[in-house]
Amino acid sequence: MADPSAAAREGAEALALTRELIRRASVTPDDAGCQELMIRHLTPLGFEVERLPFGAVTNFWARRGTDGPLLVFAGHTDVVPAGPLEAWTSPPFEPHLRSGLLYGRGAADMKSSLAAMLVATRRFVTDHPDHRGSIAFLVTSDEEADAVNGTVKVVEHLRERGTTIDWCVVGEPSSSERLGDVIRVGRRGSLNGRLTVHGVQGHVAYPDAASNAIHSVLGALDRLARRTWDAGNASFPPTGFQVSNIAAGTGAANVIPGTLTALFNFRFNTEQTADALRAEVERTLREGGVRFEIAWHLSGAPFLTHPGSLTRAVSDAIRDEVGREPEHSTGGGTSDGRFIAPTGAEVVELGPINASIHKVDEHVAVGDIDVLADMYQRVLENLLVRA
Ligand SMILES: [Zn+2]
Repeated sequence: MADPSAAAREGAEALALTRELIRRASVTPDDAGCQELMIRHLTPLGFEVERLPFGAVTNFWARRGTDGPLLVFAGHTDVVPAGPLEAWTSPPFEPHLRSGLLYGRGAADMKSSLAAMLVATRRFVTDHPDHRGSIAFLVTSDEEADAVNGTVKVVEHLRERGTTIDWCVVGEPSSSERLGDVIRVGRRGSLNGRLTVHGVQGHVAYPDAASNAIHSVLGALDRLARRTWDAGNASFPPTGFQVSNIAAGTGAANVIPGTLTALFNFRFNTEQTADALRAEVERTLREGGVRFEIAWHLSGAPFLTHPGSLTRAVSDAIRDEVGREPEHSTGGGTSDGRFIAPTGAEVVELGPINASIHKVDEHVAVGDIDVLADMYQRVLENLLVRA
């Protein structure tokens, strides 16, 4: 931007939009009007908007253009609950500026990204009204909670209609210490199991007439917990297994427990499949003589975006804006990228610093919002300017 006052206005716009979004208390899965605000910005730019509510969840898909390739900005308007209000220095849903930081729930995860995407898109289509391909927004209010009626349903809807996404930039806060130092190019899979162990309740003085549910599963659980599942690979750390909850016993010291329930989770890499992990756990329990059942829930398969046009476009954008070479990471929790990547899309997550997300006094550096908008704009230019 050649005119410095115009640049200041642009910066102010991204900040103002972030503040407006924070003011809408969109505790998951409530959208609280965030998406209508986004839609009001997209419609005048020539986006065709489809509101796609499923259950209590608000989603929309907005697309500008009909041709390929299709670049999608994906994100969520919902935020995690604020927790105890008295712990916050300023009220979580009243955006507050203190020494260059903007405070509020969702400031980093991920309302500043949504604002930056909107500003980047407006600038880009103003400069390049006849850009090649299409730009779309895929926005949900169901990322932080169940993720059942959100992105996964919208992706299903798009597939039924034959819409294929080529590139997807997710606004999750990927950065670690400086904006753009890390982009996520994949995520581990997450597989949950709820184990129920059956024994026979009885008096501790008469163990022969009972079957202790705790004793019966200890050995097998120990083997699972100690096991090395794989060594990881060039893109992923090793697969991990964690028991997160165990419940058994009546509270009385003289009763042998007849049942036990345990919750466990796998974070797994591309060396594994959910089916293989399931089979291995069940085999280990059977071999240990455990009588059990397991309710499985696959919350996401692992995905990996190989180096290609999108990773190049994003890395170049970061280098041009801040002179930084981003680390390509697959760490962190799950994100809605897990639902988009299986369609064959290249998926990269680029967003602000994640140090304060889901915490009290969540914040984002005000200056980073503008730079993030510049980065998103460069991604658009790198991919959709006609040669
Ligand atoms: Zn998020």
